[in-house]
This record gives sequence, C-alpha cells and structure tokens, in this order.
Amino acid sequence: MSEPVRYHSTRGAGPTVPISQAIAAGLAPDGGLYVPEALPSIDPAAFDPHGSLADTATTLLAPFFADDPLGDELAAICAEAFTFDAPLRAMPALPNTMMLELFQGPTSAFKDFGARFLAACLRRLPRTDARPLTILVATSGDTGAAVAAAFHRQPNVRVVILYPDGLVSPRQAHQLGCFGDNVTALRVAGRFDDCQRMVKAALGDATLQAQLPLSSANSISLGRLLPQMSYYAHAALGWWREHGTPLNFIVPTGNLGNALACLWVREIGLPVGTVRLACNANATLPDYFSGAAYAPREAVASLANAMDVGAPSNFDRLRWTYQDEHTLREQLQAASVDDAAIRQTIASHAHDHGDVFCPHTATAVHLLDRLRASGDTTPWAVVATAHPAKFESVVEPLIGQSLAVPVSLAAMLALPASSEPLAADENALRQWLLQHAQA
Ligand SMILES: *Cc1c(COP(=O)(O)O)cnc(C)c1O
Repeated sequence: MSEPVRYHSTRGAGPTVPISQAIAAGLAPDGGLYVPEALPSIDPAAFDPHGSLADTATTLLAPFFADDPLGDELAAICAEAFTFDAPLRAMPALPNTMMLELFQGPTSAFKDFGARFLAACLRRLPRTDARPLTILVATSGDTGAAVAAAFHRQPNVRVVILYPDGLVSPRQAHQLGCFGDNVTALRVAGRFDDCQRMVKAALGDATLQAQLPLSSANSISLGRLLPQMSYYAHAALGWWREHGTPLNFIVPTGNLGNALACLWVREIGLPVGTVRLACNANATLPDYFSGAAYAPREAVASLANAMDVGAPSNFDRLRWTYQDEHTLREQLQAASVDDAAIRQTIASHAHDHGDVFCPHTATAVHLLDRLRASGDTTPWAVVATAHPAKFESVVEPLIGQSLAVPVSLAAMLALPASSEPLAADENALRQWLLQHAQA
C-alpha cells in the first residue's frame, strides 16, 4: 500500500478529500457522489483463509483507508460493525445454487452492514460542534430501522426517520417506531420520493443547518457503500479457494448500492464472475442495459418496496467505474420482475422446496429460475437481502402459513411503537425540526 487514496466527486468539481472527510460529509459539496481517485487492486492471497467476515473486511478496506486516522481504527470498526455473519449456503433443492444470506443483523435486512459500519466510523470522527447532531433518514422501510438501530442511545446524536405512511409493511412500521430515546419516526402523508425530497431540502438549507447541525445516512455515503463489499469478497474468496472459479451473483437492486459494491469487488481483482441485477417493476436499469438511453423516472409501488426506485442514486458511481458507455453495458445485465412474478416465485418455491423468500430476494430467485429454464447450469449465488418475516403481509398469504420471526425482530415487535404524522411538505419538516431543536 503506497499512496493514500483520496476521494473526489463524480461531478468532478471541488478538491479531493481523505476518506474520513468523505464519510463525514456524505454527499460531495457539488452534489455529486464521492469516489476514490482510482480503485486499488488487491491480491486474493492477501486474505487470511481462516479469517472471519470482520477480518476479510479489514484486509479489503485497508487500502481505502490508508493514511487516514480512521485507518488505524479499521480493525476495531469492522469488529464493531460485523458482529453477525453473511453465510453462503447451498440450496439443497436447487443444483449449483447458493444463497448469500444478508439478513442476520439486528433489523433483518442487509442495510445493517452499512449502517453499523457508518455509525462506527462517525463515532470516531471528531466534531467541532458541541450541539447534538441530527441524522435525517428518508426510508422506504429498511434503511431507517438499520440506521436507528446503529445509532440508538448513542450520546449527542439524534435520528429522525421519515417514511411514507401506509407504504411500508406493518412490521417495518412497528420496527421504525419501537426505538424511542434518541430516535423519532415521522410518518409522512406521501411517498418515499416526498420523504427524500424533504430530507434533501433540509440538508441543503443553510439557515436551518445554522440552528441545528444536520447530517444524513443515505445509501450514497461511502461509509455505507464500502463495507458492503466485504460480504461479496468473503463469499467469493471462500468459493474460489474451494472450487478455483469465480462466483456469479444475482443481486436484488434498487438504488444500486449493494450491486455496485459487488462490482467493485470484481474491479479490485477478487474472484467475482458475472453479476446480474434483479429489479422490480421499476425498469430504469433493465431498460438501460437492454440498449435504451439512461432515463430516470418516477418510481412505481411494488411488492419489493425497498427497491421502488426510478432514479438509482448510485448510477453515477457505476458510470464512473467504467470508462465508456460501451464498456459499461458489457459489464452487466439487468432484468425487471413484476409483482405477479414475485408472487409466483414466492409461492412456488415454498410449495415445491419449502424455501421462503422475501419479495426482494424473490426477484433474484425469479431471474435464477429463468436462467435455469434456458438451460444455464453454472453456479450462481442469489443474494437474500431481507428476512421474509419482515414482509409477512405479502409472504404469509402466498405460502399459507405463518413464518418464524428472527429473535431480534421479535424483540422489537414486542416493544411499544409510536410515530408522529407529518405533511409531505418541506416546510412541515423544517417547522418540526425547529420545534424539536432543543430536545
Ligand atoms: C435496500 C434494499 C434493496 C435494494 O438495495 P440497493 O442497494 O438500494 O440496490 C433490496 N432489498 C432490500 C430488502 C432492501 O432493504
């Protein structure tokens, strides 16, 4: 490891910054996303074959944090963030098929990896402002709970979650409202896009920021993106040591943070093979990869609500990763899976094999089924992004039975929950924040 990696905006303006500054800021000042000046390359032999997920993460992320104060703490940060596994399991009923299970964290979705790593970084970064920091999160369901869990009861930090009222699952809503203490859930009379717009407006409001320091924990933060590389590296290296071949992945995709992490693992030289994106009815990426011009659009509601994204926020990072459009289009394939196919996939796999998937994971399983039907027999890892019990109102009627609930989710569901209503209006959020500034 030679030169320290510095980070600049995908929009190219502004100075390059060290990783700790990029993580503290979230978004670059010109509105772009932070990317490293160049992706490092890492030799697969650098990893301890007997290491834990946290050990793999430490080796993998070291070049990204080289010569930064956070770099000295990286092993501790990874140990603090990765307290649960991301097992790669064979699926006995499906030949040559693995499942990369990413839902063993406290809130039963893969967002726990990024949120916990980000929180572990922010805890260690010095702040010049003595006032409490308010972290604003717009969520379509899973991010809010993961961020709340990661910062719950942390001194001098407050988390304010905005979610679209009635558009998250009943258990997601309960989870968002169950923390209390330094976490507040606001149920917004609108859609996810409204929540996101309100958060962006607050973050960009200098007058408001002068009265109470605000930050975000959105998926565009490098502090969430980089740690997501760890489970792909860990799974692919394990597979490669055993089989001598790269591992192929099918990734349920919305904002493209999870899939981009997988592609970056391949770009830095680790044994990731083909990557396919499974999208829901929101077909911005499938349309692009089938040859159309990039056309972000309004999101439509689907059963896989955490992927209801019409303008994937990491797309500019994907573009940055490959030099030109032609190369980019060669890297990936993406397909859209509608609600009928999601339902059919959940019902048929439960019926035929006893395997139960959440609606997001089902999009990836559906693509696998299509590949197998076309005669593909190569090994694939399907990425499971959430536990099905989090989406019981969709899954249980389809499989005709109730699901066992993971211990941490059950503990949250046993707590009382509350949220406050809020109009889908930037001023309403502003007012709310000012009224609660002294809290
Ligand atoms: C957030 C989320 C996704 C989409 O991940 P992106 O990084 O936004 O592409 C998929 N599944 C679940 C369960 C999620 O919570």
